[in-house]
Amino acid sequence: ELKAIVNAPITDGALADGTRVPLLANLGSPKDAAAAVELGAEGVGLFRTEFLFLDSTTAPTIEQQQADYTAVLQAFPGKKVVVRCLDAGADKPLSFLNDAEEENPALGLRGLRALRANEQILRDQLTALARAQEDSNAELWVMAPMVSDVEETEYFVAIARELGVKVAGVMAEIPALALMADQVAAASDFVSIGTNDLTQYTMAADRMLGSVAAYQDAWHPAVLRLVKMLGDAGRANNTPVGVCGEAAADPLLAVVLVGLGATSLSMTPAALADVRAELLLHTREEAAALAEAALGSRTAMDARDAARAVVSARS
Ligand code: PEP
Ligand code: MG
Repeated sequence: ELKAIVNAPITDGALADGTRVPLLANLGSPKDAAAAVELGAEGVGLFRTEFLFLDSTTAPTIEQQQADYTAVLQAFPGKKVVVRCLDAGADKPLSFLNDAEEENPALGLRGLRALRANEQILRDQLTALARAQEDSNAELWVMAPMVSDVEETEYFVAIARELGVKVAGVMAEIPALALMADQVAAASDFVSIGTNDLTQYTMAADRMLGSVAAYQDAWHPAVLRLVKMLGDAGRANNTPVGVCGEAAADPLLAVVLVGLGATSLSMTPAALADVRAELLLHTREEAAALAEAALGSRTAMDARDAARAVVSARS
């Protein structure tokens, strides 16, 4: 019987009532693709491209980048692959892009800000992605990290389209962007919520600093309210709103995120099985009830407890 379970086909992500919630993988290098496929990833929700640029004194050429993007796209035929443009900042400075002298790197010239200040690097990356898109039948989506508002959203979407990218979106990691969710969802093909940075900036607590690690908890209702604003705006505009931060790997929080309007979840591939199993225990209505209980709480701990209480009251 155990063998039957082990060999059971991995089902696509869905709630108990059949509502589909695609479960995608976060990848940090093309080498991670095979394991993600093995663990049932239905595509890639976040392909971090920093690996291509680190340990280098010059930006990689278009051809070098294209080869790596093609490798990932070809590992997911017919599937969605979301690639994030370079997210460099003074915390992980690149000699050709960043000034390493910033006092507050998390608040500095990073993500799309750094790319815009070095537009040729952005143009080359988008060109490499657009070319890679032609060499596979995966569905390429491209997004910008650390986007502050709708003007930056429009800037990125326009330049991505100009260079041949078909689907262009933004990460929601800065509270300002979430607060402008209605405008952003109308201007973008999709939104992907990066809960790691969104939590860091909402709570004003450095995610790298152990002494404030307790603040780095996406269960905090302040973070969940921002997620809800994004989810609502996505629904109103017919714009997909996924989550690709670590919060999506917490099974019960994953259900809450769906209740708040997340249309897909992307996570470290090792978390896929547990999240898949938890989603199957809850209907859309239950997910909404969990979300409401968490949203109405006072602290991260209270929100977690409130969601658990809704679950136990039912069983
Ligand atoms: C995030 O901020 O949630 C995210 C997914 O991006 P990263 O962890 O690479 O900053
Ligand atoms: Mg981030």
